[in-house]
Parts: sequence; C-alpha cells; structure tokens
Amino acid sequence: MSTWWRILRAPPDLSISEWADSKRRLSPEASAEPGIWETARAEYQRGIMDAVSNPAVHTVVVMSSAQVGKTETILNVLGYYVDQDPAPVLALQPTLEMGQAFSKDRLAPMLRDTPALKGKVQDARARDSGNTLLHKTFPGGHITIAGANSAASLASRPIRVLLADEVDRYPISAGTEGDPVSLARKRTTTFWNRKIVLVSTPTVKGQSRIEKAYQESDRRIYLVPCPDCEHEQRLIWSQVRWVEGKPASAEYCCVECGSLWSDPQRWAAVRNGRWEAQDEFNGVAGFHLSELYSPWRKLGETAEDFVASKADPERLRTWVNTALGDTWEDRGETVDAAALDRLRSNYGPDDLPNGVHIATAGIDTQDDRLEVEIVGWGDDEQSWGIAYHVIYGDPAQKTVWEDLDAILLDTYRTENGRTIRVQAACIDSGGHHADAVLKFARERFRRKVHAIKGFGGQGKPIWPLRASKSSKTRDFVYMVGVDTAKDTTFARFQIEDPGPGYCNLPADPATGYDGNWIDQVTAEQRVTRFKEGRPYTVWQLTKGKRNEALDCRVYALAALKSIRRSARPATPVQRSATKQEPAEDWLGTGGSWL
Ligand SMILES: [Zn+2]
Repeated sequence: MSTWWRILRAPPDLSISEWADSKRRLSPEASAEPGIWETARAEYQRGIMDAVSNPAVHTVVVMSSAQVGKTETILNVLGYYVDQDPAPVLALQPTLEMGQAFSKDRLAPMLRDTPALKGKVQDARARDSGNTLLHKTFPGGHITIAGANSAASLASRPIRVLLADEVDRYPISAGTEGDPVSLARKRTTTFWNRKIVLVSTPTVKGQSRIEKAYQESDRRIYLVPCPDCEHEQRLIWSQVRWVEGKPASAEYCCVECGSLWSDPQRWAAVRNGRWEAQDEFNGVAGFHLSELYSPWRKLGETAEDFVASKADPERLRTWVNTALGDTWEDRGETVDAAALDRLRSNYGPDDLPNGVHIATAGIDTQDDRLEVEIVGWGDDEQSWGIAYHVIYGDPAQKTVWEDLDAILLDTYRTENGRTIRVQAACIDSGGHHADAVLKFARERFRRKVHAIKGFGGQGKPIWPLRASKSSKTRDFVYMVGVDTAKDTTFARFQIEDPGPGYCNLPADPATGYDGNWIDQVTAEQRVTRFKEGRPYTVWQLTKGKRNEALDCRVYALAALKSIRRSARPATPVQRSATKQEPAEDWLGTGGSWL
C-alpha cells in the first residue's frame, strides 16, 4: 500500500467478508437460513466482497446467474459502508418501484436484525429520523435508493459509492437524460476514492451492459479442485452429465479425470476454490459466476430447467442468462425459407387438427388492397396457418370491405367436426385509409374487430393495457407492440418440434401460404442500432422486399392477446401515456384460457 494512501485515510480494519462474518445477521423473511452470516457458505462471495473493500480496485463487475446470492452480497457491501466506512452511497435499481421493494424487503430487515447497524440508521417511521424509504442517513453518510428509469432520482448529490444492481435491465435512457449508469457514475467524480459496483444477470450478446463491463475488467473466473484428481477447473455446462431422460440425476464430470461429482462433492469443491484473473488488473475487478457454483441449487434442478427450455428459443435464452450467467447469442436475426418449409404438414381449412381451438385474423391495409391472414390457435399458443387472402381494390371502395367481412365470417372445421370461427381481428389503421378502418372496426366492435397501430420498441406489450382514442372520431385505436410481436413470432418460427408456440403451416400453397408468403415473412431482420452509446434492436425490412404477410401474422397474434385481455376494460388515455407492461410470459399461462 502506498504512503499517500496511509496519510490521507486510515483504511477500515475489516474487509467486507470479515465484517459480514463477524457482524451480519440474515433476516428470517429474506433468507431460508436466518442467523449469522457465513461467507464460507458460498465461498466465491469472499473474493467479490473483498474486491469492493480493496483500495486498489475502483470498479467491481459481477456478471452472474440468478441464485448465487448476489443481493446478499450487495447488502453486505451496504452494511459495511454504514458501519465501517461511512460514505454517501447510491443504490441503483432498474425502476423506482424495484428500489422501493429492495428498501422495504431487503435493506430494512438487515438494518433491523444486524446489531452493528441497528441504531445507526434510524427507523423510517420514527419522527424526525431524516429517513424515508428511498433515503437513509447514518453518522457520516447516507444511502440513496434510485430507479434507473427516473432521471430525477439519479440527479442527487455527489456519491462515493455506486451500487448498480441488474444493470442489464436498465432502460437505454433515464427519461431524456441518457444512459442511467453514466449519469450515476457522474455523481461519483468528485471523490478520488470512489467505488463503483456493477451487478447483473446478462442479456443479449453485444447489447449487454454487464458483459461489456466484464470484458473491460480483469475477467476473473472461479476455479475449483476435483475431489479425486485435484485438477483445478472452471465449472462449465458441457461437463454436466445425466442419464438419458433423467436430468434430475445430473452430476458434474471432471474435465481431467472424468470422475463424477455428487452435489455435496461439488459444493465442497466450491468451498476450496479460488478466483483467477484471465487478464491483467487495471483497477477493474470482474467476476463471472454461474448457477453451477451455487450452494442453493442442485445440479439436477439446473438440468431439469434446461430440458424444459431447450426446445424453445425464448425459454432457452432465459435459461442461458439466469442459469449460466452468460449472454444469449441471437442467431435468430432472420429465419430462412427452408426452415419455414419444414413447418408444413397436411391439413386444410376443413380438416384442421383437433388441437385448434379458435381462430383470429390479422389485416394489413395497403393503398390498392387488403391482406388477411386467418390463424388457428391451440394450447400454449401453438398455431396453425389456416388461410391467407389478398383482396385487391381501393380501400376507399365499399366492396373491398364487404369482401373482408365475408372472410372474417368464414367458418372452418376440425377433423372431429368442430366449427372454428374468427373470434378477434386486428386491422392496421396506420395507412391512408384510417377512416375506413375505424368505421369498419366500430361497426364490428362486438365481434372484437380492433383498429390498431404498430408501436415499435423493445419490451412494449404486444396487446396494450389501454387504448388511445382517435382525436377526430373518438374511436379506440390499440397500440400494438410490433417489435415484441415480431421477436415472439420469429422465435416461434424456429421451434422445431410441435408443442408450445410451434407454428404449423399447411402443405397446400393454394391456401395462400406459397413461396411469396414465405418471402414476405422472412423479409425483415433484426439489426442493432445505437442511441447515446447504448445498443438496441430494431426490425428492418430488407431492401426491395414486401412484408405484409409478416404484419398480418403479428396482428393475428395481437388479436389473440386481445381475447385474453378482454376481462380488463380498455380505458382511453392520451397516446403519450400509453402504459407499458413487461412482455407477457406466454409459457407461464398455459392453455387454460378457453
Ligand atoms: Zn478429476
């Protein structure tokens, strides 16, 4: 340690892991194992926590799976700064609501149950305590809790310690102010001994904040010794083995001697492990962790989750992020025509498989025609393309709409003789014929024919919670999250086995599903763009191609979502106030909506 450091400040006596082992108490409502904290329980946490209290480290990056105890690690860091090294601290969460929940459910119990902290931070309920849910003072410092979605909450006074949790879930911009992590970092610039801690489960490769930060660090990995040959190794998914069909039996296979480790053997190996940097240290200590290291997860559970997710790109992506702590490499930028041809099977409008329960329609409006797709839906949103129609004619003319109405009233049959009808439809009102679309939808309100407008942007709900009202005619217009719907549709086109989300196409091109249809649904690709230095994805039409068929499919999916939402009344709001909600987890909801 250099002399200038000694002169300026006497470092605290304890490292964070030493502090936690001697002072921290786990609260019963937040932990399955309440009582005294023990770093050795998840030994890898020691290196992470002590990097935070190491004066040579200015930034700590933790890229990890879920379920490795990272929230407790963050709490220990907070407790340490309150008790040992008082400083102004900013604890940043993806949203203000999540910040409030963190304060109430995690921070408050620690402050209450850890004797060394009790009394230093007064109860927020006490009068004149100076403490609120989002701001807690203690002798020599304070903790401010902010949401990355709120520029106002970030624009506080200078801070010495920034604890940014779940940074991959932060919006690209806090309001209009720019990247929330940069904004928060700016608050630390007045402190020469600032400390920045970035923690997250990663997301998509090339877009992940935490992966970028980890790549710029010394990239530490955790090595554990084999109980049999003592060979030190990183735990990797490709070494996990199980008996075919019995993922619960999974064991870890030593990369050196091939011996199989039981869960207790693996956990013991983790206790004897150590961190090793892959790059030279430059002030940024980076840590990567997967669920394979977690003392709270059996290997069989991880393997079962994998088996349940592997057939579906959407679920597999979540599994890779949350179980392996790795980014997901998105190979689904576009779907090739041959892959779509493989989705064809022998059925038609009058002999639909019995799994089809209902149908919806999606309609794209052009200046010289309407294009319509009728899609059948079964359990877990497995779909069957039923028919694709192009109605030529000027949408200013009545006949075009009469033809559309006839198509929407068509009936179809399943093999066992059930009648299938269109139960909801979405029509694009974005073109030159908005008035005609609104009128058509208004007159068929009871048949759930909805006028919609496409609404871009990642994470927008496919079907909105609320509709906006046309200023001219006072008709409802629903803002459909088309990018989310395209993400979902493309991921589903890549599912190879019939089941949840699988897309069936009829073999007969006379149904409208011809080469032209395939050309159109594959006409767009997902590309990465940058805004204020942060990447985000958009869907882009390949030059010279048409995409009406893709739009129709997306609108038919929105129509399906509208049925499932119909229990909720639509309330008119200003367009700018269209409420956001997280993308729907369609797999979690099953097929019980009929
Ligand atoms: Zn071995």
